[in-house]
Parts: sequence; C-alpha cells; structure tokens
Amino acid sequence: MKTDNTVWHAHLVTKQERAELKGQKPCLLWYTGLSGSGKSTIANAVDDLLFQQQRHTYLLDGDNVRHGLNGDLGFSDQDRIENIRRISQVAKLFVDSGLIVSTAFISPFQTDRDMARAMLEPGEFIEVFIDTPISVCEQRDPKGLYKKARAGEIKDFTGLDSSYDVPKQAEIQVMTAKQSVQQCAQQIIAYLKTNGYIG
Ligand code: ADP
Repeated sequence: MKTDNTVWHAHLVTKQERAELKGQKPCLLWYTGLSGSGKSTIANAVDDLLFQQQRHTYLLDGDNVRHGLNGDLGFSDQDRIENIRRISQVAKLFVDSGLIVSTAFISPFQTDRDMARAMLEPGEFIEVFIDTPISVCEQRDPKGLYKKARAGEIKDFTGLDSSYDVPKQAEIQVMTAKQSVQQCAQQIIAYLKTNGYIG
C-alpha cells in the first residue's frame, strides 16, 4: 500500500482537470417522481440532446441498475437505503470523472434524496422533480404497474399505498402534463446553460 501522499498527489489528475478537458461542469441530475411520471423518458431525451451537443454524459436508469450492480437488493427498508447509497456512490465517481450524470429512480423519500445530495459537493446535485399528477401517471401506466397494484398484485406501490415526499427545494420542476417531452427536456438544458454547467 502506498503511504507517500506527496508522490500520490503529484500524479493525480484532478477532478477539475478532467472537467476542463471535457469543457463542462460535471453534475448529477437526480430525477425523482412517481412511476410513469416520465423520469426515464425525459432523462433519455436530455441525455440525447446533450450528446448531440457533444457533451460527455452517462445515464443510470433504475431498472438497469437493479439488474446488475444492485441485483442482490430487494425492497426492504435496509435494501432501499443501500440501493440509493450505491447509486449515489457510483454517480459521485462518474461526476468525479467529469461527466454530466443522470439518475432516474422514483426515490420517494426526501431523506434518501438528501443523503445523495450530501455525498456530492455544493452545486453538483440537481434535483429534478418530474411533477406529474398521479391520475395522469395512472392513465399512462407505461409498464402496467398501476393496474397490477390496483389488483393487489403489488404492495407498497408509491402513490397508492406508499407515500411520496414532494420535493421541497428541487432545482428544477418539470410539468409533464402541460408540456411535451421535448419542451421538458429543453427546460432542463436551459437550466444547465443558465447555471454554467454547459457553455
Ligand atoms: P418513469 O421513468 O417515471 O416511470 P417513463 O418515462 O417510463 O416514466 O414513462 C412515462 C410515459 O409517459 C412514457 O410512456 C411517455 O411516453 C409518456 N409521456 C407522455 N407525455 C410525456 C411528457 N411530457 N414527458 C414525459 N413522458 C411523457
């Protein structure tokens, strides 16, 4: 194990240098909202727009992460916290590498989102509240989950028999029932421009 910190630091490429090479200010766009609210759809649209602008990005999608990194986790309170902790740590590493990272998870509890925020430096965590009324989410029901939950096949379903803490201080609030996917995505791009994350 290396103990000489001076040598270690002399060879370290800093986070700032990685960001400068990419010409962007790295950050984490943390999408939160009910199932079917549009998190994945909008996160993908934003990722696509950023990529077209030759930005360096990565998208961590809830279901994909559950298949791999967090495949051993269930939905108990303990596993739910561990799920968020691992996602946050991976996102933090990606931010450290200079990327604009997006995560799309329901993340219903403010305490969990605050835990993720606390892991990053000030200004790096951008809470994006995908604010869609539950009636609209249920009408869309893209994965048929509301139908199953109403039939009693899924327990502790967020918005029905499990609570969702409405974000108190989200940096961005997106109203998908009133705007198209492209309009929502452009709103987020505009935020990144206005606040100096992208030039
Ligand atoms: P989530 O990731 O929050 O569970 P999804 O993105 O998987 O939600 O599903 C949202 C559904 O709503 C998709 O079928 C999408 O096409 C539809 N939709 C309709 N209008 C919008 C909008 N303005 N923004 C986002 N999604 C929309």
